[in-house]
Amino acid sequence: MNFVNGKTVYILGAGASAHTGTPLMSKFLVSSRQLAARPQDLRFKEDFETIFKWIDGLRANRRVVDIDLDNIEHVFSLSEAMHQTREQGTYKRVQLRRVITETVDRFCCLQNGPSHYTGEPAYDVFASELAQVGQQRRDRIGETNYRPDTIITFNYDIALDLALIKTHRGIVNYCFSSETNPNIPRYLKLHGSINWLSCMARGCRDASWRFPLPARPADFKQPIEFHINTASRYQCPSCDTVGDWRIEIVPPTWAKTVENNHFQTIWQQAVDDLRLAEQIIFIGYSLPPSDSYIRYILAQGLSGSPRLRRIIVVDIDPEKGSVHNRYKDLFSSSARGDVAFVYRSENFRDYSHSQLNGDAASYE
Ligand SMILES: [Zn+2]
Repeated sequence: MNFVNGKTVYILGAGASAHTGTPLMSKFLVSSRQLAARPQDLRFKEDFETIFKWIDGLRANRRVVDIDLDNIEHVFSLSEAMHQTREQGTYKRVQLRRVITETVDRFCCLQNGPSHYTGEPAYDVFASELAQVGQQRRDRIGETNYRPDTIITFNYDIALDLALIKTHRGIVNYCFSSETNPNIPRYLKLHGSINWLSCMARGCRDASWRFPLPARPADFKQPIEFHINTASRYQCPSCDTVGDWRIEIVPPTWAKTVENNHFQTIWQQAVDDLRLAEQIIFIGYSLPPSDSYIRYILAQGLSGSPRLRRIIVVDIDPEKGSVHNRYKDLFSSSARGDVAFVYRSENFRDYSHSQLNGDAASYE
């Protein structure tokens, strides 16, 4: 048997979190509108109201002709672009981020037991398989040759974050700097995360990002609905203000101007890690033609990856073959001809339970 001795880079798309109930981008605004219809239950009630008024106003405004206002990616990109060009209503950006966050929060069903968080089964399996295979590899090849695996995700939800924290005793390796713990998987959230916060309080000059999550499984009393139960009570360690947070998420299509060093660092590390990869496993990512900057990151990473031996794509393709073809096109233009390509028609949950361990550990 040939073992995988180098780094595996996992790339997770929205399909990987679909089983948690987190809405896919294509259905996202429909889910947000469902919440807006029951405003009495909402933490960010006024933001929902403002945002849907804004979207409906845009619809009536003939100037916005090329934008699909039912598509969250387009609407989110528009609000960020308006902020950058200082156009009317720049504050919508902060409000839209809250609407997106609360929608993720409400629909992502993380299971709570009677007194504590019980975990999200598929992500728990994923995190523990990675830890187990990583430990076996380290024992086999030795500490000095060992490189931890990397998980690159496009998702905002925190289901996998909580699973990693459970598996790695309170540590999650977001890689905000290049100095990171070498023993646990690197976790790069390219579009941000609903638990990444920076203080908005007037006069507070602390631009550090916080990511309050419980450190121990025993503390996981209310990690679900993070913004309702955790962020609203979380106090800025610099200015003591409670709950006045900007949520650090960016639209999937947005990459024109990077205003923040954290995102720059994360994206650069994604390219660097792809170049170091021995294999890349895509799960639940359909490689849509509109994701041009992700294709760019992949092409950049793949073209300079001397160690790469295998690429695996795990996806349920409703378009019957078009996802497969898009990947084949991308790899034929950017990866070497001797890299093996495997396509598995499976969802994240089934894959984590059946094939993941074998793919992570060895070649067929
Ligand atoms: Zn502050």
